[in-house]
Amino acid sequence: MTENSQNSQKKEPFYLNGLHFGCQRCSFCCGHSPGFVYLSERDLKALCSFKKLSVKDFVEQYCRWADYYYGTQVLALKEQKNYDCILWNSGCSCYEARPVQCSTWPFWSWMIESKESWEDCAKECPGMNKGRLWTFDEIEENRIAYEKNIPIHKEEVLKIIEEESQL
Ligand code: SF4
Ligand code: SF4
Repeated sequence: MTENSQNSQKKEPFYLNGLHFGCQRCSFCCGHSPGFVYLSERDLKALCSFKKLSVKDFVEQYCRWADYYYGTQVLALKEQKNYDCILWNSGCSCYEARPVQCSTWPFWSWMIESKESWEDCAKECPGMNKGRLWTFDEIEENRIAYEKNIPIHKEEVLKIIEEESQL
């Protein structure tokens, strides 16, 4: 947990009584404009298993390196020419194994930091403030999963690929 998120958790969350969310399948969060879907080690393994591909092959076909903090690089999904996610094909082609970044939307820490940030994000996601009521505990479960899902660094991926080649 980051220092900022610890501070934000000291305030009483505005979503104590839950929040409404129901995806309207507009596809906005899966493409249309440049962005990054970062992958953690858990995401990478889940996607490789779902696609029945080695880490080497999955990374070559579906991934790119994204600049991260302090000059490091982490693993992210490629985009198509129109900026849609590489795994988008009239829906998420890997929905059952989709990255935690995707499955925890829209309960990312910074999105639910305040009522203002939630409403601001709701201008771009028509599913927010619609659909079923997500309880405080469900929202917290997603927020924590999002925070714990650290993107995997390039060196770690290369090490996994090296270990894989020795099997
Ligand atoms: S932007 Fe919101 S409503 Fe649209 S696909 Fe994403 S989660 Fe669903
Ligand atoms: S992995 Fe699936 S859910 Fe996530 S952005 Fe890509 S298409 Fe959308």
